[in-house]
Amino acid sequence: MHYDTIVIGAGFAGAVSARLLAEKGEKVLLLEQRSHIGGNAYDRLDEAGVLIHQYGPHIFHTNNKTVFDFLSRFTDWRDYQHRVAARFLKGDDREMPVPFNLTSLRIAFGEEKGAALEEKLCARFGREQKVSILTLRQEKDPELRELADYVYEHVFVHYTVKQWGTSPEAIDPATIARVPVFLSRDDRYFQDTYQGIPDKGYTVLFERMLAHENITVLTGVAMKDRVTLGEEILLDGAPFHGKVIYTGAVDELFGCRFGRLPYRTLDFKFESYDRETFQSHGTVNYTVDEDFTRITEFKYFSGQKLPRTTIVKEYSRAYTGAPGEIPYYAVINPENLALYEKYKALSETYPGLILIGRLAEYRYYNMDAITARAIEAFGK
Ligand code: FAD
Ligand code: UDP
Repeated sequence: MHYDTIVIGAGFAGAVSARLLAEKGEKVLLLEQRSHIGGNAYDRLDEAGVLIHQYGPHIFHTNNKTVFDFLSRFTDWRDYQHRVAARFLKGDDREMPVPFNLTSLRIAFGEEKGAALEEKLCARFGREQKVSILTLRQEKDPELRELADYVYEHVFVHYTVKQWGTSPEAIDPATIARVPVFLSRDDRYFQDTYQGIPDKGYTVLFERMLAHENITVLTGVAMKDRVTLGEEILLDGAPFHGKVIYTGAVDELFGCRFGRLPYRTLDFKFESYDRETFQSHGTVNYTVDEDFTRITEFKYFSGQKLPRTTIVKEYSRAYTGAPGEIPYYAVINPENLALYEKYKALSETYPGLILIGRLAEYRYYNMDAITARAIEAFGK
């Protein structure tokens, strides 16, 4: 069999690339080491009948119409606006909206003080504006400083230490800014134009995207089982002169020869209960205590009506590369980006080898952003 392109990985980066190339007439071989397609967006029914996201909660949101239209070829959407509450006090089950907003302000400071702070905050930054907690902490005004310190302590510092093993100042500022202080009563987690969950789930979306006569999908096959990077690229031992789109971890592609790129991995603990609902929101963040960062209850996403429910708790730790561990988050800082650049430069010595993906590019891509990236790379 002749192939024009080999794609490694069946997540968004690989599946979107494969589909676009196949529609152009290329023969595509897609290798996926897991037993299923969908990458980290994979979902499936569990024993309780709940459609769970095996690799953590995935909510689709975008302002990019091209991306939305492209994915909408393979799915309809269930309207879902994600809302997150924080358990923000130790030993107390009171909750408030996250991102911290004008409603959270009243919950934290009470009506009178909350109203005064709201006025001051909005005069300073403007209504409906989003401000990073790191910016707010630079404020000189003592009352705004007190507010910033409160939000830092009750929303950010402990959660960030759990997620990244270090303080909010030590991580990439763009990561902290993903969850701003929002001077609004809009309590949704995202404000994007298009938001939702694929109505039959992500796996079905992927099945449809990959169902094309020019695409051969092999699951349970790692790159190394078929493809070798030596002096040149070999497929089953014979020189391969087409394109290779690689969406896995770039350090692992080259045997970690310059050292391992740091990632965070997650342990997911799923629990099912004989009750209809478990918690108040799709996701509840535990911002001051517990070892896990958040609990997600999947029925909010799927809208299923069932007597039982399933939740997942997420525990974050450093990725070591041990068998079975999955790298989820790149640890973005100048030192690690410099190491990434060495691998990137090495990859460029292979004509035809293209890196696309959250791992392959060592970036914090959301699903829409990686879809946009694959569409853009195809355009080139
Ligand atoms: P992946 O989905 O990781 O796919 C890469 C695939 O390549 C994997 O299936 C892997 O097994 C395979 N692979 C790697 N190496 C090899 C190899 N050597 N041989 C064969 N196969 C290989 N985004 C959102 O927009 N909304 C959300 O709510 C959201 N929530 C998230 C929650 C969590 C916990 C995490 C970790 C991410 C979340 N994301 C979310 C981001 C989303 O998961 C990514 O944008 C998306 O998965 C990136 O797709 P990808 O193809 O780059 O990578
Ligand atoms: N964050 C936090 N408290 C929260 C939510 C988020 O401190 O209640 C910080 C934390 O550092 C996290 C980052 O903001 O890693 C980005 O959060 P997001 O919810 O976007 O993370 P993801 O869903 O991608 O894991």
